[in-house]
Amino acid sequence: MTENLNLFTSTQNVIKEALTRLGYNAEMYELLKEPLRIFTVRIPVRMDDGSTKIFTGYRAQHNDAAGPTKGGVRFHPDVNEEEVKALSMWMTLKAGIVDLPYGGGKGGIICDPRQMSMNELERLSRGYVRAISQVVGPTKDVPAPDVYTNSQIMAWMMDEYSHIREFDSPGFITGKPIVLGGSQGREKATAQGVTICIEEAAKKRGIDIKGARVVIQGFGNAGSFLAKFMYEAGAKVIGISDAYGALHDPEGLDIPYLLDRRDSFGTVTTLFDQKITNKELLELDCDILVPAAISNQITEENAHKIKASILVEAANGPTTLEATKILTERGILLVPDVLASAGGVTVSYFEWVQNNQGYYWTEEEVNDKLQEKLVDAFNNIYDTAQTRGINMRLAAYMVGVRRTAEAAKYRGWV
Ligand code: GLU
Repeated sequence: MTENLNLFTSTQNVIKEALTRLGYNAEMYELLKEPLRIFTVRIPVRMDDGSTKIFTGYRAQHNDAAGPTKGGVRFHPDVNEEEVKALSMWMTLKAGIVDLPYGGGKGGIICDPRQMSMNELERLSRGYVRAISQVVGPTKDVPAPDVYTNSQIMAWMMDEYSHIREFDSPGFITGKPIVLGGSQGREKATAQGVTICIEEAAKKRGIDIKGARVVIQGFGNAGSFLAKFMYEAGAKVIGISDAYGALHDPEGLDIPYLLDRRDSFGTVTTLFDQKITNKELLELDCDILVPAAISNQITEENAHKIKASILVEAANGPTTLEATKILTERGILLVPDVLASAGGVTVSYFEWVQNNQGYYWTEEEVNDKLQEKLVDAFNNIYDTAQTRGINMRLAAYMVGVRRTAEAAKYRGWV
C-alpha cells in the first residue's frame, strides 16, 4: 500500500514540476493532480461451485479535456484505488506523448485470474461492464487489455456492452480479436513500441542491436514479444524472468524454445532448476535492461548496481524517482515508461479509428504509423531533455501533460 501511495504521489510530484516548467499556474496542477472521476463497483459473480463471490472493481477517468478517456483494465489481486488513479494519470501522459486525442483512464478488478475458470472470468468481465456501462462508451471512455486481461476478455466485454446499448459497439473497447474489429498488430504493439525506443536509444549510444546483450524482466505480453523481436534482430537475450524466478545464459537464451513453453500467464521458469532471482537478473552485466513486469523494481538499493548503459521501462513505474536520479547521474540512458510503453495505446487508437470508420488497415500500415509516432515521440522527448538539461522522465511528463493542459485551457476550465 505504501508503495502504491508512493507511486501516486511521485506521479503527482513530476506532473507538478512538468507544469511549472511549462509555465502553467497552480490551478492547472489542482485540476490535473488527480482523476476527475473514480468509480468503485462491486460485482456479484456466480462461481462454478454455485456460491456467489462479490468482487471489487474500479474505473478512473483522469481528464477528458483532450478527448474520451482511454486505458486498460487489469485483473490482479494487488489492484487498489491508488494504483488505478496513478495509472490513469500515466495514460493521460502516454496519450499526450504520442499525440492522441484522448485523456487517460484506467480500470482494475481485485481478483486472481490464475485461480479462476474461463466461465467465472466471463461472468466477472460481463458483470464489470454492466456495473460501469453508464460511464463508458466509444465517445466517453474506452477500455483495453492490461495485466492479465486479453482479447477474449475484451470480446466478452464488447459483447456485453453491445447488448446493453442494443447495437454493435466495437469502438467501446480495444484489443479485441481481429474478427470482432480488432486491429492488425495490436497484440504485439506494446513490445513493438519498446523495440522502437530501444533502437532509437541504441543509436544515441552508438550500440549495435545485433550482438547487444539484453536482459528482460517479465515474460508477459510485452516481455515475451520483446524477447522475440530482440532475438530476431540478432541481439543476445541473456536473461529473462517471470514471477517465479529468472534464467541466465551469457551466451544468449534459446528464446523460440522459451516462447513455445510459456503458459498463457507468461510462466516458463518453473520448468528449469538452474535459476537466479529477479533481483540478480536486474544486476546482470548487459547493454540493455528492460523491466517489463511490475513497479518499484529499481530503487535506491540497487540503482548503483545496474550495469546496463540503456534502461528502457516497458512496465509501468519499475524505477523509483530516487533511482532515476542515481541512474541519470551515472550516465545511464533511461527511457521512461510513459514513452516506452505507449505503443499499446497508440495501436489501440488506430483500432478505434478503424472501428469508427468501419474500414480496416493492413499490418504494414499499422506498423508504419506506429513507427512514425514513436520515433517522433522519442526524439521530441530526447531533444527536450538535452536542451533543458533534464532527465527523460521529466521531459516525457512535460511533453505528455501539455495536450491535456492546453485543451483544458481552451475549454475555459482553468
Ligand atoms: N494497458 C495498456 C497501457 O497501459 C494499453 C491501454 C490502451 O490500449 O488503451 O498502456
